[in-house]
Amino acid sequence: MRQRKIKNLETKYEDYSDIIIDDPSTVKGHWSERAGGRPIYIEIGCGKGKFISELAAREPEHFFIAVEGNRSVMLRALEKIRDAELTNVAFAPEFVEDLTEWFDDSEADGIYLNFSDPLPKNYWYRRRLTYRDRLKTYFKVLKDSGVVIFKTDNTGLFEWSIQEIRAADLKILDITRDLHAEVLSIEDPEERAAFNIETEYEAKFSGLGEKIKRVVIGRRVPKDKGEELEMITSMAAFNGREIPEGDRNFTAVSKAKAAIAKYGKEAVTNATVGALYDDEANLVVLGSVEKTFKGLSGTDFAEYAPIAGIPGFRDAVKKAAFGSYEPKSFVGIVATPGGTGSISSAVNNYSCPGDRILTHSWYWGPYKSIAVEQGKSLETFEMFDSEGNFNIADLEYKVSKLLRNQEYLVVILNTPASNPTGYSLSMDDWYGVKKILDSVDLEKKVTLVIDAAYIDYAGEEDEVREFLKVVDNLRANILPIIAYSASKTFTMYGSRCAAMLCLAHSPAVAAEFEKVCSFFARTAWSNSPRAPQTVIEKIYNDPDLLAETNAERKHWRDMLLARGKAFETEAAKEGLEIVPFRAGFFITIPYKDPEALCNALGEKNIFLIPVDGGVRVSVAAVAEERCRQLPAIIKETIKELG
Ligand code: PLP
Repeated sequence: MRQRKIKNLETKYEDYSDIIIDDPSTVKGHWSERAGGRPIYIEIGCGKGKFISELAAREPEHFFIAVEGNRSVMLRALEKIRDAELTNVAFAPEFVEDLTEWFDDSEADGIYLNFSDPLPKNYWYRRRLTYRDRLKTYFKVLKDSGVVIFKTDNTGLFEWSIQEIRAADLKILDITRDLHAEVLSIEDPEERAAFNIETEYEAKFSGLGEKIKRVVIGRRVPKDKGEELEMITSMAAFNGREIPEGDRNFTAVSKAKAAIAKYGKEAVTNATVGALYDDEANLVVLGSVEKTFKGLSGTDFAEYAPIAGIPGFRDAVKKAAFGSYEPKSFVGIVATPGGTGSISSAVNNYSCPGDRILTHSWYWGPYKSIAVEQGKSLETFEMFDSEGNFNIADLEYKVSKLLRNQEYLVVILNTPASNPTGYSLSMDDWYGVKKILDSVDLEKKVTLVIDAAYIDYAGEEDEVREFLKVVDNLRANILPIIAYSASKTFTMYGSRCAAMLCLAHSPAVAAEFEKVCSFFARTAWSNSPRAPQTVIEKIYNDPDLLAETNAERKHWRDMLLARGKAFETEAAKEGLEIVPFRAGFFITIPYKDPEALCNALGEKNIFLIPVDGGVRVSVAAVAEERCRQLPAIIKETIKELG
């Protein structure tokens, strides 16, 4: 916006000489004296000063430095501060190129970037205030706990800035794509007023219907660690990921293996593994699958499969996933290497960088890794209420909370027979889910990923697929995706075979699903393995072979269900609390210090996996008799731990 020329501007500036710093570099290293020891916050681009004057009035315990290159505009800000008799603001009437010329290391506590110029031409990108190198300089002058708070109405600039944050190895502490909706949702008026101070620009453009986006950026690694340059210990780009220190699963599994090597298989209960083992602790492999694999030709192994899967596999996996249910929606299918690939692709294609992905509080760890690896994060709803029922109310609350801030939401439900709980949503639960999804504003888009990795070990084929009729009938802005894995169903864990199947409201959405998921596959792993796809195609093209596979699976499923029941019944007898369980590979015992319980059981040569808030028992890996004995031993061990 063109600013009218102000007469006698420089003479007017003389009236404010006490609060203007003509050469900020002369104060470098001495800002604290100037601020009277108060924490220092900088606003780059203060405009006419509405924001800084309101903030300074509200936070007299802080000191503010308002930077603005347009002297005519800044005059209005100077007037506001003087009129309000505020003494905790100083002004720097300049465009700042490099904050480190003005500030020493760690001199500031926070930086506000409000509605910075988007500089839309591509070749200007280095001059944008959220360009990666500029972000890095801000964090040089900020203390360890310092933050940058960036607000804009410009979607392009915002999404670009998110990528810059990742590239600069920084962390997103908070993000919203609709700040004003979030403000409105705060019930307490005082809290609401304190949550956001509008700038002049913000008031104008939000009034015109523009959504205001805000991101709070922090440091990922403490300063001293980040600056260890003498010896290069890392070459990998950060790209937003955060790998947790030490893998709990891995530690538990290796302890079990070491015990087996030392004491022998019979003396050890290894309930760590997430694969089905027979009563003699041998991995179950379906004979019909094995013989079909062995009958494959060289071409079946060697040739590339089409990215979306070979046509015969696509037909077969549709039957495998849906059983006798005939979907009414438009089905899109893309092959992936394992269910993990399906989940990763769904998260990639149906959420934006910075978004939160929603799942239940007991969840399979890789959900979080997938989210953070893609520059997103994982949010959970409480899976069960105080009565042990699936917590529809909390799911509803979290869906509406997240949708206030983001346009897209991916919800992952792991059912039937979830990992680690063994819980399966009931039909009542599903109707509750449908009710929530039916009330989602049509402008928002929700993708419901149903991670059905354990579906064929959860109960009778048709019974466990009854939920399909609910998700086949959702509104146009909801996209259900079934992540159907062959790892367990066909005992093909290591062959990496699965498919993601969507139930779309229109042919266009189904076609787009295949297009975007294939494109992601192209860049992530390219084609999925052909051999396991061919095996599944052959099984479904041969009724006798299919009957054999189904009969074998039923045999092992019955064995597994009996183990789960045995554990559940004994746990009830012993008074050992377990997380609501229905079927599947795992049962979880809630416990406040999972590591301590696992270690104590390890002393007795019983190996379980610690998860957040409990320990997971793989009944898939232990014989029924042992499943019957374990609850008493676990209960006893808990008692010993006090
Ligand atoms: N989802 C859950 C809950 C799992 O436990 C697993 C495997 O352990 C998977 C998905 C995916 O496994 P895969 O990639 O082998 O299909």
